Amino acid sequence: MDKLGGTPLKTQTNPPSPRFSSAGIEAARQQCLALYGARRPLAHIHSYGCQQNVSDGEKIKGMLAEIGYDFTERREEADLVIYNTCAVREHAEQKLYGNVGALKGYKAKNPGMVIGLCGCMMQQKPVQERIRRSYPFVDLIFGTHALQNFPQNLCEVLRGRQGSPARVFDAEEGENVIVEGMPVRRDGSVKAWVPIMYGCDNFCSYCVVPLVRGREVSRRPEDVVAEVRGLVEAGYKEITLLGQNVNSYGKGLDEPCDFADLLARICRIPGDFWVRFMTSHPKDITHKLLDLIAREEKLCSHIHLPVQSGSDRVLREMNRHYDRAGYLEKIAYAKAVIPGVTFTSDIIVGFPGESEEEFLQTVDLVREVGYASLFIFIFSPRPGTRAAGMEDPVPAAEKSRWFAQLQEVQRAIGSARFAGLVGQTLRVLVDGPGKQPGQMTGRDEHGTVVVFAGEEGLGGQFVQVKITEAQNWAVAGELV
Ligand code: SAH
Ligand code: SF4
Repeated sequence: MDKLGGTPLKTQTNPPSPRFSSAGIEAARQQCLALYGARRPLAHIHSYGCQQNVSDGEKIKGMLAEIGYDFTERREEADLVIYNTCAVREHAEQKLYGNVGALKGYKAKNPGMVIGLCGCMMQQKPVQERIRRSYPFVDLIFGTHALQNFPQNLCEVLRGRQGSPARVFDAEEGENVIVEGMPVRRDGSVKAWVPIMYGCDNFCSYCVVPLVRGREVSRRPEDVVAEVRGLVEAGYKEITLLGQNVNSYGKGLDEPCDFADLLARICRIPGDFWVRFMTSHPKDITHKLLDLIAREEKLCSHIHLPVQSGSDRVLREMNRHYDRAGYLEKIAYAKAVIPGVTFTSDIIVGFPGESEEEFLQTVDLVREVGYASLFIFIFSPRPGTRAAGMEDPVPAAEKSRWFAQLQEVQRAIGSARFAGLVGQTLRVLVDGPGKQPGQMTGRDEHGTVVVFAGEEGLGGQFVQVKITEAQNWAVAGELV
């Protein structure tokens, strides 16, 4: 019986996620003291690829700061170099091997240097083997599932520094386990990344992400809301929620909460701040979500909604689970309910077997939607994905030509949009000084870069700017 004499209702809650243990931090701190004495060692951390990686990089820096490291942009003077890798396209991988190779020379001059590699590439067995064999100067490898073990693993490597050399590999495949309370050292004090889920269940036929990041799991809404509240109280003005497919947020939670419900809870946090999110999968974006964006001031009227292709056959081969008409219906609904809404998109050109006719359907769709900007990629075969085994008769030169053609189409659309902004007054979140003296730069809610004359002290504030001129990559204006 409760105080009022009734039978207490059983409230459904999501069981708490495990908390980060600081035991490894303490062990690594002791090891650093033994090795470096009173001197604070220097770490150089570089994250390649998407915002999820940048966010993981901020956690690595958070753990290192607690262990006692300072940070440097100059890898040659670092005691610890960590490259947080990306596996989405082959080009990123090749570049990484080149950059790791270059570390050999630095380590020859500074034998105490500890080198670590982590992130998506390290989840791939052949990559691990190649590093083991051909890059013996790499001390530590850890995958996306082993982030929370980083302090212990680093400690082991440092212990080896005092005696026999230790190489540590911690990159087994595994379930995504959400660990709350990991230290974070954010790159800025105005804009913050907040992961709301990890992994992906979609298996788009070209994509390696589900193979390296594992199955989808969602953070508890109360943990996300608490993190955002803390950031807003600390003065952050823009929160970007991260997930490979934010629209399927909530799977597996005991207490039902979909993405729109989560956003609604975040919007109730008091304060003047913007909320963005990425990435939205078109198959799962709902009218409920679009209606919420229309209602809620805090939600930016900008949606990154990657279409990948405008051809139904190619979309089917990509395993995207929507067609051109379905995508355009969602765009039309959003345009009808959200005044001034803008869209950005990812496009893959040269998917195996894509014909010129199919490519032109993409060009046509790009014109019809009128994107604010596009991220265009040439198809890159990724090991283990279905598309890597598909016949691909289109010559690379043809794909490059399509790439350039689509870029040009988008450039013209972008210029026309910029020209239309002249005379309008935009609300801008100021990033900081621009390239010219006395110039400041920022972005509006659609991600449009805005430059204007202003004081440096405006950094991190919302201002109103009246647009006077359209430039190539930005619009210029005057403070109102
Ligand atoms: N989860 C997000 C982003 C995934 S990766 C989404 O579904 O949109 C970011 C982008 O990289 C993708 O949208 C796609 O356009 C591109 N991409 C992924 N794999 C690729 C490949 N094998 N070749 C070329 N581009 C690829
Ligand atoms: Fe890759 Fe598709 Fe998942 Fe995005 S939704 S991460 S493209 S499999």
